[in-house]
Amino acid sequence: MIKITMLMLLAVTHVFANLDHAPKNFKIESKKFVFVDFVKADYFLTFDVASEKATYKAVITFNQPVAGSPIFDIIEMPSTSKVNGKNDKAIQISSPGDETKYVSLSSTLDSGFHTFEFTGNIKTNTDFTSDSARSGFWMSDLTDRRYLEQYLPTNLEFDQFAMSMDVKVTGTQTPHRIFTNGTLSEKSSNHFHIAYPDYFSSSSVYFHLSEKGRFKIKSFSHKSIDGREIPIVTYSKSSWSLYEIEKNTLKVMKELESKFGPWGHPSLTAYIAGMGGMEHSGATITSRSALGHELTHSYFARGVLPTNGNSGWLDEAVASWRDKGYKASSSPGYSATNLAAFSNYKRTTTTKAYTEGAAFMAYINLKLNGNLEGFLKKMYEDYLHGQWTTEIFLKELNDFSGMDFSNSFNKYVYGSNEKKEHNKHNARKGSPMHPKLTKQQLLDLL
Ligand SMILES: [Zn+2]
Repeated sequence: MIKITMLMLLAVTHVFANLDHAPKNFKIESKKFVFVDFVKADYFLTFDVASEKATYKAVITFNQPVAGSPIFDIIEMPSTSKVNGKNDKAIQISSPGDETKYVSLSSTLDSGFHTFEFTGNIKTNTDFTSDSARSGFWMSDLTDRRYLEQYLPTNLEFDQFAMSMDVKVTGTQTPHRIFTNGTLSEKSSNHFHIAYPDYFSSSSVYFHLSEKGRFKIKSFSHKSIDGREIPIVTYSKSSWSLYEIEKNTLKVMKELESKFGPWGHPSLTAYIAGMGGMEHSGATITSRSALGHELTHSYFARGVLPTNGNSGWLDEAVASWRDKGYKASSSPGYSATNLAAFSNYKRTTTTKAYTEGAAFMAYINLKLNGNLEGFLKKMYEDYLHGQWTTEIFLKELNDFSGMDFSNSFNKYVYGSNEKKEHNKHNARKGSPMHPKLTKQQLLDLL
């Protein structure tokens, strides 16, 4: 009875909001596969130094809109899978057009609330020494399936849901620490709890575990224009990387707040390392030179979230336009191209976002008499911790300006029949801000 009341309450407060942005459900032969809405995911992670194994248990409540087999994702197939307490089998499936892969279940479920329970191993970007565990949940938006699904069962980018992690490091006496953008508490030595807010998606989480003392840390704070004192943690393996980091970080935060409004996150965590960087929500792993670009992404990409591969170009275009000095230009300087007319199943951002996308933003800026930042500030205010799509951006831009940008979008954003990115070499190269790192380079960051 209590359970039914709770579920009814959940049903009222959680009405498939994110499913509006999900791709279309599909069939493979006669089996129907359905995108679902995660309500909550609780992860229990154990890093056992003695056996050099990292394992998880995931308990996920979700709401399924119609009968069928639920779609979610995890790269390394789970060791055990249960749904509503019954054993099941996880299966890998391809999206229509073979754009990407997902994971689903052998069984079919009715519409309504259900609970997954999975166990499995975490192998990616996870390493052990004789007395310590190191794990970094690094991500990328330029390669398919490179968000949280590399490590834990999760939903696609369109879904926002609360997550928690109970993290234990066992088989060692060496004390560990976690850098994260969730609310961290240390229950006892090497036993941690992290709560992530319900506006996070699979691309938002920042998680980096290592033994204590491995990194140089510089902590300071930023007085936001809204009066909050924002705590900032920067860390790196070398003190050289942290040279003048406080000055540089505060300079960028002041710039961004003056352009787009108050910092939208409770804190900032920045790991200064590697080449280029990757954005998380109020967190980043970044080289010194990419810091401005990555912090811009805490506004656009991980403040306002993209929903899929057809909306990811927006934040890269905005961040690159900002990097190039907020330019205004009378023409985008390219003929028709495709930034957002790919398959709805595509999950990666086109690398043209950095070049053509940024040039298109400069073009819009001129059309708005140099007030693109005013428009973006309004979008940030209205959509912070929510999601935008290319269609939402266009509609809001038309409303804001009183002009009709449909023709420009048809040409410069939706404007070619190129449905796939043929230039694989270019996609691999990524952008100077987000170069694709090798497996070894990713491990070296741990
Ligand atoms: Zn970027």
